[in-house]
Amino acid sequence: MARRSRTLSDLIVVGGGVLGVWHAYHALRKGKRVVMLERNPVPQGASVRNFGQVVPSGLPPGIWRERGKRALKHYGSPEISENTSIRQNGSVYLASDEDEWLLLQEMKLINDNDGYECHLLSDKEVFERWPQASRRYVRGGLFFPQEMSVEPTRLVRDMIGLMIAKYGLEYLPKVTALSCREQEHFAEVTGSNGATLLAEQVIVCSGHELRTLFAEELLKHDLVTARLQMIQTVPQPKDYQLKGNILTGLTIRRYEAFHACPSYQRVIDEMPDSYLRSQGVHILFKQAVDGSLILGDSHHYTRNATTETMSFEIDYALNQAMLEEAMRIMEIPKPQIASTWNGYYTQTTKEVVNTKISDRVRIVTGIGGKGMTTGISLAEENIQATFG
Ligand SMILES: Cc1cc2nc3c(=O)[nH]c(=O)nc-3n(C[C@H](O)[C@H](O)[C@H](O)COP(=O)(O)OP(=O)(O)OC[C@H]3O[C@@H](n4cnc5c(N)ncnc54)[C@H](O)[C@@H]3O)c2cc1C
Repeated sequence: MARRSRTLSDLIVVGGGVLGVWHAYHALRKGKRVVMLERNPVPQGASVRNFGQVVPSGLPPGIWRERGKRALKHYGSPEISENTSIRQNGSVYLASDEDEWLLLQEMKLINDNDGYECHLLSDKEVFERWPQASRRYVRGGLFFPQEMSVEPTRLVRDMIGLMIAKYGLEYLPKVTALSCREQEHFAEVTGSNGATLLAEQVIVCSGHELRTLFAEELLKHDLVTARLQMIQTVPQPKDYQLKGNILTGLTIRRYEAFHACPSYQRVIDEMPDSYLRSQGVHILFKQAVDGSLILGDSHHYTRNATTETMSFEIDYALNQAMLEEAMRIMEIPKPQIASTWNGYYTQTTKEVVNTKISDRVRIVTGIGGKGMTTGISLAEENIQATFG
């Protein structure tokens, strides 16, 4: 195929997941000319396989929590809220025993000190809002009213459509970036369509794809790839409404935000071993706009997935165990599984890989399980640092 040279744009973004989308969005809003390459016809990575929960409450107070809070403002802006499926229905953490209830009370104090609104709910208050919650499971809840959810399969598609129509994004689907080099006055990306693209700046947001671009550089960051197994039920009856993000006891025992609670270590030390724990399961619920329930998830980790391979198989015994645990927590009138899948993301102990390889090339990946919650704010900072 003939190689074609193209005009110089301000920014090339590699990858059409949420990180790529939000970098492109912030640059376009500054009036920059942006080209975005996505190797699939539509993005198929973690950004479309996740829960779509925007939950700053899951992050400890600090820079990432602040990014999450800013994300709520971005998502609530008329341009984003009117063009995507963002909903502000809040998040609730449901405690199932006295230990988890104690952690929720400690978490309430931490959030009060951080100025982040939340309300403790008695078991009765939980049942008023979520009548499906099991009387045998719930001890109490902690509710964060500002938090949001989104349909992940639609978010990136909606935003790419908006950016093309309103800001003139040049979107190149089905094009893999095969190489990226800095030249004297610009950076150059070669695409699998034979094109050579030139830009002032390149931002590579290639998710858990660690082998195509900058494989050696990525190896230095000791990235771990997580595989998460997810379930979607058939749509529930019309009068079944499960509002907001529902996070439950195993999440309270797992999410980083709770590590700061004075009782956290004792609760973890006393936690019995179980099959669900061995599979890294914590049960989250989100009702999709079609009425189905998205449930999950499990966590399996592979260090350095540049050289190791990860399993792609769906474990049906695990699905069954997750569904049984979910039904112990919530009444689910139609528990039939309509769909099940694995999602993958990379993570690092440094919270993210956000590295300038050279003056004109940046890599942003390894954001872990917080990309939907914080990616939009991280991207804003990077674009501000790049273009002022
Ligand atoms: C099951 C699951 C549940 C989750 N739940 C939540 C949640 O509720 N809330 C939350 O905040 N976060 C959640 N996350 C985390 C969140 O989904 C990720 O942090 C985020 O999607 C990562 O976005 P990304 O753009 O880095 O990666 P991806 O979404 O993987 O995007 C990378 C894109 O780059 C493309 N690409 C790669 N290499 C190239 C190349 N060389 N050329 C062209 N294109 C390329 C890929 O095709 C892909 O589309 C969850 C993740 C999973 C897996």
